Amino acid sequence: MRRRNAPASPPTDPALARSLPLARLSIRPGGIAALLLAAVGAVGLWVLAVGHAERRAVEAVAADARHRLEIYANNLDSAVERFDYLPSVAARDPAVAALAAAGAGQADAADVDRVNRYLEAVNASAGSAVLYLMDAAGRTVASSNWNRPDSYVGVDFSYRPYFKDARDKGLGRFYGVGTVTRLPGYFIAAPVEREGRRVGVLAVKIVLDALEDGWRVSHDAVLVADRFGVVFLSSKPEWKFHARRPLDAGTLKYLEDTREYVGLEHPPLVLPRSLQVHPALLVERDLGRYGWTIALAADAHPVEQAATTARIGVALLLLLLLASGLYVRQRVKRLREQRLAKDTLDRAYQDLERQVEARTVDLRDAQAELVQAAKLAMIGQVAAGVTHELNQPLTALRALADNARLLLEQGRQAEVSQNLVHIAGLVDRMAKISSQLRNFSRRSEGPAQPVPLPGAVQEALALLDRRLKEARVQVTVDVPEVTVAFDPVRLQQVLVNLVRNAEDATAGVAEPRIAITAEPVLLDHRPAVRVAVADNGPGLAPAVRDRLFDPFVTTKPGGQGLGLGLAISLAITQEYGGQLEARDGEARPGEGAGAVFLLTLPLIIAERDEPTA
Ligand code: ADP
Repeated sequence: MRRRNAPASPPTDPALARSLPLARLSIRPGGIAALLLAAVGAVGLWVLAVGHAERRAVEAVAADARHRLEIYANNLDSAVERFDYLPSVAARDPAVAALAAAGAGQADAADVDRVNRYLEAVNASAGSAVLYLMDAAGRTVASSNWNRPDSYVGVDFSYRPYFKDARDKGLGRFYGVGTVTRLPGYFIAAPVEREGRRVGVLAVKIVLDALEDGWRVSHDAVLVADRFGVVFLSSKPEWKFHARRPLDAGTLKYLEDTREYVGLEHPPLVLPRSLQVHPALLVERDLGRYGWTIALAADAHPVEQAATTARIGVALLLLLLLASGLYVRQRVKRLREQRLAKDTLDRAYQDLERQVEARTVDLRDAQAELVQAAKLAMIGQVAAGVTHELNQPLTALRALADNARLLLEQGRQAEVSQNLVHIAGLVDRMAKISSQLRNFSRRSEGPAQPVPLPGAVQEALALLDRRLKEARVQVTVDVPEVTVAFDPVRLQQVLVNLVRNAEDATAGVAEPRIAITAEPVLLDHRPAVRVAVADNGPGLAPAVRDRLFDPFVTTKPGGQGLGLGLAISLAITQEYGGQLEARDGEARPGEGAGAVFLLTLPLIIAERDEPTA
């Protein structure tokens, strides 16, 4: 009979529960491919970025190096150029020419001394290393360093190419290590002419060490190599006299003959490893006039620094990408979990709602059963009360009937008649009970309809008019013109019951009064009117005040009351959605507090029918 729902399913979906750990463990093939792709991308990015940074740094460093190399080349050029004309100008001195012509060994000591001093003075003012005069055979006749231990005077330089070139071709240039001083230098030589003949050669030696010092100060690795590739000037001492390329036998023979490097070895030049990695860092240019090459090996440090910076940058970028990737992955996972949790929650909520619905239906069923049970209990109670109430008169009737029969047999007519009057009274009482019960059990005649409250009160008072006048009860009515939703006959029945009870209660009072008033109230949030029937009687008897509305509860003596009035009134009131309750009245000096019965009735509010009118 009762609708029972199937037991609610547990809130967690088994399929869902299974899918969660699986999702955490499984690595999809797509995931591996994506990982590989990401790794390849990372390596590619690394190589490209570091390579690009290195190339750009090399370009910048090389450009800078070329610029400085140009300056160094110009410096070198001007350092040599300065002395280009010194030998030819100094050779013009007639004393020089005369001495050369005289030749070494034959010259007059005073002439040699004069030329020695002349050369010394010129050399000092020009700033060259040595200025010296050779005769036609290559022997030194006079020299600026005549008075020093490494004096050239008397030394034979005929093997030196510059001597031969000057004597034979008119100009000699040569770089070599001094055979006497062991100091490397640049030699410029010019012929000394006398009467149209070349009688000797005047040569100047320039030392270029100062240039090396300048390069060193600039922290530049600079080298100058001769036409064979032999390094003869360098800011790095360990590079000096090393050969940039292998020397063939002919070259070696030539070097030996000219004693250019006084027999020094020429091992191959080894440049730093960084130049092998970045060859562009070695910038060079020809110094055309001399057949030399000047080269600058730029510092690779800035390139390494740029590469390191790029590596750090790329590493940071990759880390950032990795972190972002992980974050996004985590977020997606979290969102998926949240969605799953929400779905689970939704399902649980729906389950719960279904359960609540089912329980509500169950409760309603249970409530209906309870009401039914309460009704049955009420009927039982009423039946018990009725049996009790009817038993007494029935027993009395039986006794009276038996008694009447005896009296008849004895011919006592008058007493029989008296008995019959008693019997009629008892029958009336029983009829009254049964009619009241019929009232109690009868359902309402009809649905609620608009009933003007003042009219209903007046009709009830009219019905009781005779009784009230006999008892000299003072009745006051103060009821607004409102319309209630009720059955008119039933409303009258309830009002009559309340007023009659009030009149009964004031029976022993000197100045009996009943006041009927009404005020607007809310009943279950709907407009209603509360009618108060107050009296100045003794008030509610403590013995019955909690059971006033139970059937057959009465304090009225000698069968005057059946105790059904209030029970019936309550049933009627509730049937039409109203309320009925009792409370003590307000105490006044010299009389009882009285009782107040409150009858709350639902209102019908017409447009022009204000409840407070
Ligand atoms: P009955 O009138 O037959 O006794 P009711 O159900 O009408 O039955 O009343 C039950 C009882 O309620 C009364 O016997 C009385 O004790 C009490 N009662 C009702 N109205 C009043 C009132 N106005 N003042 C005091 N007691 C009252």
